[in-house]
Amino acid sequence: MARIDVQCRYCNSELVYKHGYARSGEPRYRCRNGQRSFQMAYRYEGNTAGIPEKIVEMAMNGSGVRDTSRVLGVSITTVIAHLKKIKARQGQPATDSSGHGV
Ligand SMILES: [Zn+2]
Repeated sequence: MARIDVQCRYCNSELVYKHGYARSGEPRYRCRNGQRSFQMAYRYEGNTAGIPEKIVEMAMNGSGVRDTSRVLGVSITTVIAHLKKIKARQGQPATDSSGHGV
């Protein structure tokens, strides 16, 4: 059986098995420890290049979640998820380049 050079994204275990394919066509993997399945690359619309920036831009311009979703062609859930992520980031103290607090 071919070795899979994949680490579990939850526990970094290398005891990972192929576990079919996601609807997007990405292979899915399953970790032996946690029995959790995951993909190496999550390919969902909101991660398309430029979309997060556009979501922010539209929010700054006062666009509602619905408008943003319609204009950018992403789901409302995606818009909300990005806005939450941005808020969380803004609420954190400044960090240096290593990612640790200054
Ligand atoms: Zn794991």
